[in-house]
Amino acid sequence: MSDTYTVINPATAQPVTDVHLASLAEADAAIEAAHEAFAAWRAVSPGDRAALLRRFAAVVDDHIEELAELEVRNAGHTRGNARWEAGNVRDCLNYYAGAPERMSGRQIPVAGGVDLTFHEPLGVVGIIVPWNFPMPIAGWGFAPALAAGNTVVLKPAELTPLTAIRLGELALAAGLPEHVLTVIPGKGSVVGERFVTHPLVRKVCFTGSTEVGKLIMAGCADQVKRVTLELGGKSANIVFADADIAAAAASAPSAVFDNAGQDCCARSRILVERSAYDEFVSRLEPAVTGMRVLDPTDESSEMGPLISAGQQRTVQGYLDEVEVAFAGSAPGGDGFWVPPSVVTTDDPAARIWREEVFGPVVAVMPFDDEAHAVELANDTEYGLSGSIFTRDLGRGLRVARAVEAGNLSVNSHSSVRYWTPFGGYKQSGLGRELGPDAPLAFTEEKNVFIAH
Ligand code: NAP
Ligand code: MG
Repeated sequence: MSDTYTVINPATAQPVTDVHLASLAEADAAIEAAHEAFAAWRAVSPGDRAALLRRFAAVVDDHIEELAELEVRNAGHTRGNARWEAGNVRDCLNYYAGAPERMSGRQIPVAGGVDLTFHEPLGVVGIIVPWNFPMPIAGWGFAPALAAGNTVVLKPAELTPLTAIRLGELALAAGLPEHVLTVIPGKGSVVGERFVTHPLVRKVCFTGSTEVGKLIMAGCADQVKRVTLELGGKSANIVFADADIAAAAASAPSAVFDNAGQDCCARSRILVERSAYDEFVSRLEPAVTGMRVLDPTDESSEMGPLISAGQQRTVQGYLDEVEVAFAGSAPGGDGFWVPPSVVTTDDPAARIWREEVFGPVVAVMPFDDEAHAVELANDTEYGLSGSIFTRDLGRGLRVARAVEAGNLSVNSHSSVRYWTPFGGYKQSGLGRELGPDAPLAFTEEKNVFIAH
């Protein structure tokens, strides 16, 4: 008996296709095959492994439009975003294709012999991907893991398996040996859970909710399994009165409403210095109401639907308990639409201020001075990203250092580049992804002493 999931187009609520969900036995077979493939993959010479990853990148590049189209239909992403996401997989592969020949160890001075260190691959790495950025988050895991000589089993979110399945096929087409990268669509409670409990999976990389992340971390403890967690966020966008208020207001909507707010880095709390508060809010309004919230197949769409009816209900639940100051538009029809919505508040205990909504909702609050801004920004168990707008770069740097989060930007909202480290403080995560050191997170450092 075969278990299947019907993929739904979130812009229309219409079925797209059926996907087979792996059983526990199928997950075990894939993990065991990945384990068997490991010995040969780690033995591929560094230059040849690099060449295979570059070829994989080239094949992804040849399929950008196809991958983007799949994501538009499966996840409701705008075309522009979906193309960027597919390109990000290519770029990430090209970047980490530079790693195999650079996994250098050290030679450490000792008496009576020679001391050497090696970065040994772990074995099978299990990557559990959420539905909000199916392609990039998959690539952030598999590119450095493969570069370091591991084999990978990857579970896409049940809601968004299509691009991951295609990437698995493209890896084979590019010449990666069988079972080096295996995509296993299935339920979190079956396949994802098995990555945690199967002793041949040596590391789990999880991106998703803080709630499930804690379960994964606890489960991994049983085998002292390596784990990287990228969890939620409630990131602050701090606007000082000396900033270019027009620029800060113009950029604030995309910093939270991109991907319909379903972004762990969403700047979903805006803190504005009191003397600039009214001006900021009055400039924010036209920037929000002017957003083009359209079917994502429309090239000019800036925001699409939420991923599912369930997510739409969750977000609506938050909106039902607050007063919306102003909101943008959203198409009618059967898709899972919520308009971009702005809530003003001065209550740091409000649910809308504290909880990750994961939808197109932003809360705006005034602050009195720099110390107050930092205190409010840090009054959260999350710590993923944040932005600071000020013309005083000394203050920009001081506040960036004071905010307890992994990814800060001053006078911009950029935070995730594949060549810079990414990850969270506090309950936003554990470990770092991306950047020059990511392959090392998929290795054990081994020390060898050789007596003279
Ligand atoms: P989730 O349950 O944490 O799902 C993320 C991934 O983990 C999916 O692939 C999921 O599989 C899998 N999973 C679920 N339960 C598991 C388990 N017990 N063991 C192993 N893997 C498991 O997230 P969600 O339920 O889709 O979303 C809920 C909320 O999480 C959102 O509203 C948002 O606040 C947050 N979230 C954060 C991020 C982020 O980037 N940090 C991403 C997504 C969601 P299935 O698809 O089969 O459930
Ligand atoms: Mg869940």
